[in-house]
Amino acid sequence: MDAKSRKRIAKLIAPYRVDDGRRFRLDRHDPADTGGLGSESKDAAKLWLQETVHWLAEEQEKLFAQDHWAVLLVFQAMDAAGKDSTIKHVMSGINPQGCHVTSFKAPTSKELDHDYLWRSNAALPERGRIGIFNRSYYEEVLVVRVHPEILGRQKLPDELVTKRIWKERCEDIAAYERYLSRNGVAIRKFFLNVSREEQARRFLERIDDPAKNWKFAAQDVLEREHWDTYMSAFEDAIRATATPEAPWFVVPADNKWFTRTVVAAAIVDLMEGLGLEYPALAEPQQAELAAMRERLVAQPAPSPRKRK
Ligand code: ATP
Ligand code: MG
Repeated sequence: MDAKSRKRIAKLIAPYRVDDGRRFRLDRHDPADTGGLGSESKDAAKLWLQETVHWLAEEQEKLFAQDHWAVLLVFQAMDAAGKDSTIKHVMSGINPQGCHVTSFKAPTSKELDHDYLWRSNAALPERGRIGIFNRSYYEEVLVVRVHPEILGRQKLPDELVTKRIWKERCEDIAAYERYLSRNGVAIRKFFLNVSREEQARRFLERIDDPAKNWKFAAQDVLEREHWDTYMSAFEDAIRATATPEAPWFVVPADNKWFTRTVVAAAIVDLMEGLGLEYPALAEPQQAELAAMRERLVAQPAPSPRKRK
């Protein structure tokens, strides 16, 4: 990638990147923001996304061949913010063998018998792979915080459930991410920031369009009644866990074309920063390769097959 494209990408994503959460304010982020690009840029953005997807596929091959880094992409959002379709579009060119998506749902009873990071640990990407978390351990300071009865089901010892628990959980998550990054897991976290109005519009579309009926869940309408509590939980979580090694991207999500552009750009920026290269063979392996080449070329051509 040339220096000019790299610069353009860095400029595009800068307003959405949060790597020092201390002064983060969610109300400074407009869900309808399109980075100064009007809807006339939509087609150009789609073309760019197509090119980027090819480029990402190449980088992923290098990631795999090099086998040092793992990439973890975490997606969090309110319902209908476009998590699934963003993941689908941005990762569409990637070799499925090098990428794994895990969708985290309400924990099973077996999962509840463990600490909450247990199931995430098991789903972490191996070196050389990209792991996508569609929802994640962040639910532990989002949905669980909004609905304290869920915390009740976690069977924690009483003395550990204090009013400091959310702060403690955020500290533990930040420490976990620091641990992962020190082990070669490159982390990026995306909050797809949809507005309450746009969410209602998308729900209505799901109700009115028979082809989208299957996406509609009554629970989503109930959940939206806790909107403000969710937003302050998101704000607290981002404040406590946005770090240089595991930054958040607060991505405007009222316009899907722009959401995809920013997410793709942030992933490109990450992969570019890893300086991925195909591994070069050491001297003895190169000599072996040359010897094998000679041997292969010297092998007699097979005689034509005789009919039985
Ligand atoms: P979609 O609706 O697009 O299929 P989704 O991610 O909303 O995707 P659902 O099956 O609708 O998937 O919802 C998953 C539910 O699981 C969400 O309501 C989420 O809050 C809940 N969940 C995820 N992790 C946890 C957790 N650790 N504790 C409690 N609930 C959780
Ligand atoms: Mg859902």
